[in-house]
Amino acid sequence: MPARNVINDLRELAELTSNADGAQRLAWGPVWRDARSWFNGKLAELGITPEIDAAGNSWATLPGQSNRTIIIGSHLDSVPNGGWLDGALGMMAGLEALRMFKAQRPPVTVKVVDWADEEGARFSRSLLGSSAASGSLNVTEVEHLADKTGVTLIDALKQNGVDLSRMHESQKYLKAINAKAYLELHIEQGPVLEAAKKSAGVVIGTFGVERHQLRFVGQAAHSGSTPIPMRKDAFLAAAESALAFREIARKYTTPQARVVCTVGVVKVEPGIVTAVPGVCEISLDQRALDAGVLAKMLADARAASWKIAAENNVSVEWQRIWKIEPRPFDPQLIQLCSEAVQEVTGDAPHLPSGPLHDAAEMVPHMPVVMMFTYSSNGLSHCKEEDTPEEHLEKAIEAFLLLVRKVSYST
Ligand SMILES: [Zn+2]
Repeated sequence: MPARNVINDLRELAELTSNADGAQRLAWGPVWRDARSWFNGKLAELGITPEIDAAGNSWATLPGQSNRTIIIGSHLDSVPNGGWLDGALGMMAGLEALRMFKAQRPPVTVKVVDWADEEGARFSRSLLGSSAASGSLNVTEVEHLADKTGVTLIDALKQNGVDLSRMHESQKYLKAINAKAYLELHIEQGPVLEAAKKSAGVVIGTFGVERHQLRFVGQAAHSGSTPIPMRKDAFLAAAESALAFREIARKYTTPQARVVCTVGVVKVEPGIVTAVPGVCEISLDQRALDAGVLAKMLADARAASWKIAAENNVSVEWQRIWKIEPRPFDPQLIQLCSEAVQEVTGDAPHLPSGPLHDAAEMVPHMPVVMMFTYSSNGLSHCKEEDTPEEHLEKAIEAFLLLVRKVSYST
């Protein structure tokens, strides 16, 4: 049974590349290379030898009746102490799709790509391989990166036969593919499908992100001698703003579209129990699937912070840390994905992806859709990451059905 094969492969890989703390397939390291050679052994059973592009992405190809190509992608790398499904599930589902088509020559060519360094766990740059191939990687932004032990990205790449200054040449490999669709199966990494008791869901796109740092500046003062009305408390202005940001997320969340605002970092100065905080820095991470909504959320957040700062007699400055546009997926593929999930599970919930995925990098180049499967307790990037097997089996079945539907669609 195909779904069983996928689960058995996942268990085998976990056995080979995990320890008591979880998966250890950190990109560009020895365990990751072991995972790749194990995967290559599975491909060899099908008579397939993968090609490595200039960014270190590994491409396995099963030629079909035409050169129109379905790309199934994901990643074998994991965060340190990661789970057994993040990335690996998509790769094993791709492998099973190759097995499925091996017997009959498929109507289209099928490529399974293992994107290099999706997680960015070692050098803090996610989607490294896929962004190189898609043309969105800016080399000057990453050439100075080093890991915790001082190894530079440039050297780590070199050890794996990849030259940072030539990674962009992987764009040629991608452009040469006559791509019909990009498909990716991934665990949700959040609690939505579990709460709805659904094995699988149709992903309608990846969130756009606006990430800022806000610096509130007031006046540090003695906590005993400064009356409340005379304070310039930077922390209270930041705290009130954080509450206002939660209201903004509530305001723009509709039954069809969930949005989020998160304050994840708070730094207070001078950080003394007997001092009114004179400076407070917070982060704000806002995400939405609709670019217009995201822009309004940002404008509202700025306005709220200015008003609250004035009321607290402090100033506030905004600095953008990062931004990415929303990447909505292809309507026709969303339809086919809905049919596949519906046929296997009896329902087809739609949801956006909060985390980024390599699939987002493919959106400017070809029609893309993703399928999510249930994440137990919404947990990921940890050894507790899991999907109950009955849900996992259904999601795998639905994904393989999607691959067949897309292969035979015109
Ligand atoms: Zn992943």
